[in-house]
Amino acid sequence: MITVLTGGTGGAKFVDGLRQVVPPENLTIIVNTGDDLRWWGLYVSPDLDSITYMLAGKLSPERGWGVQGDTFLCLRAMEQLGQPTWFHAGDRDLATHIFRTQLLAGGKTLSAATAEIAARFGIKARILPMSDSRVETRVLTPAGDLSFEEYFVQRHYQDPVQSVRFAGASEAVPAPGVTEAIRSAELVLLAPSNPVTSIAPILAIPGIRQALSESRARIAAVSPIVGRTAVTGPAGALLAAQGFAVSIKGVADFYHDFLDLLVVDASDALAAQELLETGLAKAGMQVHCTTTVMRKNEDRVALARSVLQATTQSRLRKDVRERA
Ligand code: GDP
Repeated sequence: MITVLTGGTGGAKFVDGLRQVVPPENLTIIVNTGDDLRWWGLYVSPDLDSITYMLAGKLSPERGWGVQGDTFLCLRAMEQLGQPTWFHAGDRDLATHIFRTQLLAGGKTLSAATAEIAARFGIKARILPMSDSRVETRVLTPAGDLSFEEYFVQRHYQDPVQSVRFAGASEAVPAPGVTEAIRSAELVLLAPSNPVTSIAPILAIPGIRQALSESRARIAAVSPIVGRTAVTGPAGALLAAQGFAVSIKGVADFYHDFLDLLVVDASDALAAQELLETGLAKAGMQVHCTTTVMRKNEDRVALARSVLQATTQSRLRKDVRERA
């Protein structure tokens, strides 16, 4: 069994590669819900939607979010009604939001609603929200305390970031199956998702970081940072705002307490060599270089294969430490 921790965009591309090289029934995907929002009265979960559409083969390849070939008639009509339209929801996408909202209103938990939606899409992999409790990523900027979608979509991540917090995380509990999926997996993979706003909200839920530290699974992460920048989006600025280097070293430090293997881009071979000379390597963290930038489908498949192969060859850092 392979368990993946992921956000939406970078994560969905990685999950797409994995689903093509391992039986989807062997995949459990734990998804960030810190970006969830109420939009036009509907419960929208952007990362759950991206992962669901990707696993159903319906994610729009051009946009990287929403449903392939979707129309935006409702959005135009809402605009005419003077409603806010900065968050773009397509017509078919809206059906998912309506259905999820109905399920929640009928008393289902978010994880039960997610399983129901996945089943309707014919998805064989297991998709779990990180928690059934509401955890909200808040980005503090000089312009105010913003939700993630306000910061990212409405304001195009232009504001300087002062801090990031996960409101509600300390009282939240992992969704049913989450810690079990981490503890019982042979392999846990962190997608090349934004460490600060896609993976950290998952890690902020009490019990999850501990499950990772205690799991006997090999744990590998793919770096979303190549060279000195994020492949896409604000991960670099967010890492810097949290006091981490914008480099593979910053990513390694971010996951230092549980990671066995960091997968980095081949262009970072020199930085990987330097990383191997730090205390992180002495603590047992290993580094694997391969092509991690996924431009085409073949890149996704090749990355998934390379990560799986590297993890079978890597040692558990727990064993490395015990022997040292
Ligand atoms: P979000 O929830 O939409 O922010 O999506 P994710 O957090 O899953 O993905 C965003 C992250 O994916 C960014 O930090 C990017 O640097 C990273 N990313 C996007 N595409 C790629 C890629 O092809 N390769 C790698 N290594 N990282 C990527």
